[in-house]
Amino acid sequence: MINLVLFGPPGAGKGTQAEFLKEKYELVHISTGDVFRFNIKNATELGVLAKSFIDKGQLVPDEVTINMLNAEVEKNTEAKGFIFDGFPRTSAQADALGELLTSKGTDVSAMVALEVEDEVLVKRLLERGKTSGRADDADEGVIRNRIAVYYKETAILKDYYQAKDKYFGVDGVGSIAEITERISKVIDQL
Ligand code: AMP
Repeated sequence: MINLVLFGPPGAGKGTQAEFLKEKYELVHISTGDVFRFNIKNATELGVLAKSFIDKGQLVPDEVTINMLNAEVEKNTEAKGFIFDGFPRTSAQADALGELLTSKGTDVSAMVALEVEDEVLVKRLLERGKTSGRADDADEGVIRNRIAVYYKETAILKDYYQAKDKYFGVDGVGSIAEITERISKVIDQL
């Protein structure tokens, strides 16, 4: 099984790349942000809870997010592997992912991190906000808060996976196809 953690700050291009990689490598793509947005749209209990955090650019609490991720993985018993997009974002989430995959006799194969400068991220997210319909892309203050939360709570996961020799940084600036190619080089040597 190939289990990829696609990593990087908001606006790095994780969702865009996941769409190509899931086809190329026949992997199931789980975006925790997309699952939250689906629940918000359908006004589920999870959606109502998540919305209060997402609209401010804060992280949804670990327990809620971990339970949701576990349920998404369980839905895909036939999967050849997964692309985790936007998860894990904290060390508690990384531990939980490790435990879940170990219980299935597998593990995280690699963390592929898309590296993009902050000011490029802000520009990309403001641009995306014109059409994404996402409240958290429409406000520069919320965008900057999401980037700050990334550095404060999520960036440490680089060390977490580096310590396991599973961290691979990839330049996230270029055309979509160029970046897919860079990520594929990492996957092909796993
Ligand atoms: P994303 O689509 O990955 O940019 O996520 C949008 C928002 O959903 C984030 O700013 C968080 O509020 C929330 N979210 C997504 N994934 C997670 C996660 N793994 N842990 C906590 N909150 C998350």
